[in-house]
This record gives sequence, C-alpha cells and structure tokens, in this order.
Amino acid sequence: MALLEVKDLRISYETGGGRLAAVGGVSFEVSEGETLAVVGESGAGKSSLSLGLMRLLPRNALSPEGRVFLDGVECLSLSEEEFRKQVRWKKLSMVFQGAMDSLHPVRRVGDQIAEPLLLDGRTDKTAAFGRVAELLSLARLPTDISRRYPHELSGGMKQRVMIAMALACSPKLVILDEPTSALDVIIQAQIMNLLKQLKRDLKLGSLFVTHDLALASDLADRIAVMYAGEFVEIGTAEQVLGSPRHPYTKKLLGSIPSLYDDRRPEFIPGTPPKMTSPPAGCYFSPRCPEACELCSTHPELIVCGTGQHARCHLVIES
Ligand code: SF4
Ligand code: MG
Repeated sequence: MALLEVKDLRISYETGGGRLAAVGGVSFEVSEGETLAVVGESGAGKSSLSLGLMRLLPRNALSPEGRVFLDGVECLSLSEEEFRKQVRWKKLSMVFQGAMDSLHPVRRVGDQIAEPLLLDGRTDKTAAFGRVAELLSLARLPTDISRRYPHELSGGMKQRVMIAMALACSPKLVILDEPTSALDVIIQAQIMNLLKQLKRDLKLGSLFVTHDLALASDLADRIAVMYAGEFVEIGTAEQVLGSPRHPYTKKLLGSIPSLYDDRRPEFIPGTPPKMTSPPAGCYFSPRCPEACELCSTHPELIVCGTGQHARCHLVIES
C-alpha cells in the first residue's frame, strides 16, 4: 500500500479577480522511502499542493476537494484537531519555502527544535532535549548550536535546523518546498547531500517541490511535472528525464544548461496562463510548439510507458 495516496485533489481560492483553480485534480502516490519530485514554474500550484496536504492553506482557499490517504487515514475528512493530533508533524511534516528566515530571532535554536516535541505534553523536557541532540546530529550540526541564536548561524545551518525540526516527531513523509532555493550553489549541494543521506538512513519518504528539474533529478525516484495546476507528465526519473513525452517537459529539459555540449539553454517563451481564466483546451497550447487542431480540447493523462503518463493529445498510448 502506498504511504501517501492523493486522488483528484482540487484546491481553489476566492480572489478579487474571481475564483482561481490552483490545483485542478491531481492524483498520485508516494511509497515508503520514496521521493516524488514535483517540478514546475512558479505559480504552477506546487506550494498550494504542499499547503493543502498539510492543511495550512491561506484563508481565502475553499475547502479542498478529493481524497488524501496517509498511512491509510483519510486526511481531508479529519477535524482540524484530529489532523493536528494525528497527522501534522507526526506523520507528515514540511520544510517551508524560505522558512529558514522564520526562526524566532531571540529564542535559542535548541528550544525551537524542542517545541514540536513539547507541544502535545507527552514528552518531558529531559527527553525532548535528548531528542534535540539526536536531531542535530541527524542534520549534521554540532550539538553546541543548541544554545545559539539564529543570527549566529549561516543560511545553510539555519536550513539544517529547519530540517531537524521537520524530523522531530519522526514523520514518514516530509514535504520539502524549494528547500535550497535561497542558498548558494555550494551550500545547496551540501543540503542535497544531507537529504540524500536522510532518505537512505531513515528511509524517509518525501515530496520534493522545486522549479529546478536538474535539482529534482538529484533526489527523485519519480518526477511529476506540474503546469497550470495539473500534472502534465509523471514517471520514473529515468523516464521523465531520459524520454520525456510532454512538450512542456521537453522544453523544461531544454532550458537546463549543459556542461557537455555547446548547446545554448533554450528559454520557454510566454508565461503560464492565469488560472482565474484558463485557456480553452490544453492549458499549454498558447506556448506549445506542437499545438494543432486537436489541442482545442483539454487532454487527459495518457499512459505512455510502464508508470509513465503524459497529458497531451499527441502522445501515443502504450
Ligand atoms: Fe501541445 Fe497540444 Fe500536446 Fe497541449 S495537447 S501539449 S498543445 S501538442
Ligand atoms: Mg512555491
């Protein structure tokens, strides 16, 4: 059984410009210990998907539709209190985009990591601080930083603290929302190495959300490409990177600079559609070099390999 099973999840917002469909019917599974990367441009719906799974959507969001099973428990029908007691941080946690700057400036790092452990009153202070030491070592941080304040740490160390916090209650699945986007390239590589170690040592499953397909390839077992609130392609990392079927995936791959030939990275002309008024037919059609008459109707996901699916009329079912 899959650890996480998401069925036809839909998330919309009420905005001044009308109703905005941020996530338009997304289905996928993540197995224990597996990393599914969700890749797409900003505004594709990746953060809405993450926040929806954590049930931390902003107030102008309508109640999500669909089904979300985590470890067999249907999460969307739990009350907020049940979800907080049973799921959030315990089974499913998250490293938020840009969150390393949200550490409390005048509280010691160790106290902040201990907080989720002390919240439900089941762990006493001694046990909590024992766990903090374990978590710091898991995040490859020296234990004496426990007594330091956030301003005494580098950006990379702060991000390790955020990862330690996300692991505090030993969740089976962590959502990593652009976990390295604010870091320079060398620190980014160190954080990616840490995430790989955690995946291997803890058998930690993750939903790795990024705009960077090259980065996704570093950690992902499978990759889902998201465009305008939908998955337009999903498959193993090998399938999506090695034989992409959707024109958008091909464009994303073409936009990665190559070290091995002098091909110039191509940029993708145009911008993603406004989801208050999506285009008729295929959402990618205004930017698609392969668009034809067929594309005036909205394509479904088509199976095009073992476990590979693409949402395009030109894909041949196999
Ligand atoms: Fe392009 Fe048409 Fe395929 Fe959409 S359905 S991706 S417009 S070819
Ligand atoms: Mg985002």
